[in-house]
Amino acid sequence: MTFDIVIENGLVVDGTGAPGRVADVGIVKARIGAIGDLKSAPTARRLAATRCVVAPGFIDIHNHSDLVLLADGRAESMVRQGVTTLVTGNCGLTPAPVHDAVRDDLKKTMIGPSYGSWRWNTFAQFLEELRAAPKALHVAALVGHGAIRAAAMGFGDRQPSPDELEAMKRLTVEAMEAGAVGMSTGLVYPPGLYGDTEELIALSRVVSAFGGYYASHMRGEAATVVESVRECLRVGREAAIPVQISHHKAAGRENWGKVRVTYGLIEAAACTHDVTFDIYPYTAGSANLSQLVPPWAHVGGPEAMLARLRDPELRPKVLHDMVHGTPDWNNFFRVDWRDIRLAYVHSQRDRWMQGLSVHAAAEQMSRDPVDLALDLIVEDGNRTTMVNFVMAEEDVDFLLPKPESMIGSDGRAFTPGGPTGEGHPHPRSYGTFPRVFARFVREKGLLRLEDAVHKMTGKPAKKLRLDRRGELKEGYFADVVIFDPTAIRDRATFEEPHQFAEGVHWVIVDGHITLDRGALSERLVGQVLTRAR
Ligand SMILES: [Zn+2]
Repeated sequence: MTFDIVIENGLVVDGTGAPGRVADVGIVKARIGAIGDLKSAPTARRLAATRCVVAPGFIDIHNHSDLVLLADGRAESMVRQGVTTLVTGNCGLTPAPVHDAVRDDLKKTMIGPSYGSWRWNTFAQFLEELRAAPKALHVAALVGHGAIRAAAMGFGDRQPSPDELEAMKRLTVEAMEAGAVGMSTGLVYPPGLYGDTEELIALSRVVSAFGGYYASHMRGEAATVVESVRECLRVGREAAIPVQISHHKAAGRENWGKVRVTYGLIEAAACTHDVTFDIYPYTAGSANLSQLVPPWAHVGGPEAMLARLRDPELRPKVLHDMVHGTPDWNNFFRVDWRDIRLAYVHSQRDRWMQGLSVHAAAEQMSRDPVDLALDLIVEDGNRTTMVNFVMAEEDVDFLLPKPESMIGSDGRAFTPGGPTGEGHPHPRSYGTFPRVFARFVREKGLLRLEDAVHKMTGKPAKKLRLDRRGELKEGYFADVVIFDPTAIRDRATFEEPHQFAEGVHWVIVDGHITLDRGALSERLVGQVLTRAR
C-alpha cells in the first residue's frame, strides 16, 4: 500500500479508552489505510511522532460556533487545541429555523456578536449556507428548541395551542431530515423556558424517531439543579431518547456540592439509559449578561425586555428581583458582582469595561453594580456577555473524571486578527482540551490519558452516531491529532484569553494536514457531518 501520510512511532491512543501502543498510522486520501509497522511503506510524507500521542481529532460536543464559521472558517482557537469537529446548536438558541416575524428577536437572543447573511428560514437552508462556507474543521449541528418555539409561536410566555404544537413538531421533523444530530434546549432562556416538560417530551419523541439525542441546558443550574436533572432524565425516559446534560454544574456558593446528588441520579439512570453530560475544566461560565435579569422581565423577547429596563416604573422591580430572586426563578443564585466579569461590551463608549468585573467598573464610576449592569444591557441592545465565576473547583474535580462525562468547551472558534477575534472571551475557547491534559491528567492525576482522549473522541462520536469517526481504525476517516503529552497545555487566561494552546504539533482533517508544526493550512476542508444511516 502506498500512503499519503505515515505518522511514525507515536503512542497510538485510539479513542476507545484502550491502553495506547506504539505504532505507525498510514493515511490514504481521507481515510486511515493501516495501523502497524509502516517503516518501510512508501509514502508521500512522514511525520516523526516519537514520544507523541497520536489520537483521533477531538470532538467538541458543546460549542457555540453556529454563526462565527460563516464569518471566518479558520477556527484557529479550536484547531490549535487539536479539535477537528464542533457540535454547534447548543443551549436551545439556534439561527434556524426562523420565521421572518421573529428574525430580529432571535438574532438578539443569540449569544455574542451576530454573523452570516440571515437569509435562511429553514434549518436546511441554514445548513446549506454552513456547507458552502469554507471551514477548517467539521461541524455537526443540533437544532434549538427555543428557535423552533419562536418560529412556531413567538416569544410569548404561554403554552402552545394544538396547532402550534403540531407546527413545532413539523419544524423538528424538517430539521432532523435536513441533518440535525439532535435537539438542544436552553430552559433558562426565553422563549425555551416557557415550554413545559410535556412539550419537551413531545418534540423529543420526534427527534428520537430520527436517531437524534436530547442535549439540555437545564431549567436550573443553581437552587433547582437537582429537580432540573430529574426533569431531564424524565424527558429521556418518556421520549426514549439519549440524554446529554449540557455544561453540568451547580452555580452559586449556596449550591456547591449538589453535583454529588445530581451525579447519583445520573449514575443510576445510566444503568438502563443512554445518559451522559459535558463539562469544561474551569470554575467560571459565560453567558449573556441579561441571564441575570429575572424571567418575568424577558417575556415577549429581547425588545420587550429592553423596554422594561428603560421603563422608570418597572426598573426598580427588576433591580430588586436581581438581588433577591423571585419564587418562579429556577436559575437564581445570589450574585456577587466581583464574580461577574464583562467579556464583551458592544458600545464603544463603554468598551473600556471589557475584562473588568461589574463591581470594579461600578466602583470606578461610583455607581451601583446592578444599576450599571442594566444600563449596559440597554446600551448594548442585549449584546453584553459575561464570564461568571460561580462554580466550586471540588465540583469540577468530582464530575469531570466520571465515566459519563465528555469534554465540551461551551466556547466558540476565534481567529485573532479576523472578524471573529474581538472581545474578551472566556479562555475555554482557546484552552479547554489541552487544559484537561495539563490539569486533570498531569497535575492532579484524576484521569488516565486514554480516558481523557476517549471523552473527547470515541464517546462523543458514538453519541452523535457519526460515520467512522472518533476512533483510529483502518477504514475510519483520518481526523487525527498528534500532541506531546508532557507539554500540551492551555495558555489562555481570564486576563489574556486570546492565547493559543501549546503542545499540539499536527492536526489532520479528512487526511489533510490542517496544522503542520504550528503553521495553519490555507485549504479549509471541513464538512457538515450528519448521523450515520
Ligand atoms: Zn448553555
